[in-house]
Amino acid sequence: MGVDRITGETQKITAKISAHYVDNARNLPWRIPLALSAAGSLPDPYHIWLSEVMLQQTTVAAVIAYFIKFTQRWPTVGDLAAADEADVLAAWAGLGYYARARNLHKCARYVTENLNGIFPEEEAELLKLPGIGGYTAAAIAAIAFGRRAVVVDANIERLAARLFAIDTPLPKGKADIRIAMDVLTPETGAGDFAQACMDIGASICTAKSPKCEICPVQVHCLAFAAGDQERYPVKPPKKAKPTRKGRFFWVEQDNKLLLVTRPSKGMLGSMRALPDDNWAAGIDGHGEPPFAGKWRLHENVIQHSFTHFSLEVDLAVYQSDKISINNDDNKKTDIETAIWWPMHGIEDAGLPTLFAKAVRWNMKQKSKGSE
Ligand code: SF4
Repeated sequence: MGVDRITGETQKITAKISAHYVDNARNLPWRIPLALSAAGSLPDPYHIWLSEVMLQQTTVAAVIAYFIKFTQRWPTVGDLAAADEADVLAAWAGLGYYARARNLHKCARYVTENLNGIFPEEEAELLKLPGIGGYTAAAIAAIAFGRRAVVVDANIERLAARLFAIDTPLPKGKADIRIAMDVLTPETGAGDFAQACMDIGASICTAKSPKCEICPVQVHCLAFAAGDQERYPVKPPKKAKPTRKGRFFWVEQDNKLLLVTRPSKGMLGSMRALPDDNWAAGIDGHGEPPFAGKWRLHENVIQHSFTHFSLEVDLAVYQSDKISINNDDNKKTDIETAIWWPMHGIEDAGLPTLFAKAVRWNMKQKSKGSE
């Protein structure tokens, strides 16, 4: 069954979803109070843009603290544009998908330098900005500028697929889901409607065990009527993820840890990290340390899951008071971007989660050793 199942009840569905929002809207720091919204006020486009970029592939619960931290440190898009990219990447550490942070900074600069710090209101213009795809453009246009735009995130996708029992497997089924949401989206109040759908998808029409008993559109839901809610949205068969091997190098001297800045292109680009052996999505690392010496190897200390592959990480440890990173004494690394970072402040280095996990692992070994 597909989009042909969209019934003549769409106006009722839209009205019920909108009414439910009035009493149940989630209180999120990028939203404005419903009373203001009802009186025609709109939220700050900078806040909506920032939150939407952060929310790509990330949960609301994880994003809230980052959103607050970013807006306290950089209250306007101009402030963010003026920041160093390294500071933005470090503040982003832990949120993952770091290309988003680089694009965020690029976009802030573009809006500040070319658009006088003002975000465009039209979806087509928003789409031209760095890091803004179809979903984000629609969300900003609808929520921040009150435009009629059809917003479909993962929560809305699930809600629509179940309501109309859209059984074309994703990603092909996205076209039918979009048609369904286009039919449901009202001419005015598209932003609040989108947020209402997001809220129902996140807290009622959940992926597992949806709370259909409190769902405002239960009587219209074809998946509920068939008792087959969790079948939707229909996913394509899962491809097996390859597992790659990589090795990180822990080089310690005088309570300082050697960190490098990764190349700007490629995975975790421009992020601070431990030196590694050039593992990548398509290849295992070569295993060779940055300099010869007596390394202690710990195998398979952490595993990390990326979208398209998993990584098993070995950690090789070298501890000495005779390491030089910039002259010819004793052990010399050939890592151009290497710096020594104080171990007691390592959490301020802004390491991506993968490297932070390896650091935590070895800190734990060290503290066990000193017990
Ligand atoms: Fe989702 Fe259940 Fe509501 Fe249908 S009735 S939309 S499955 S929560």
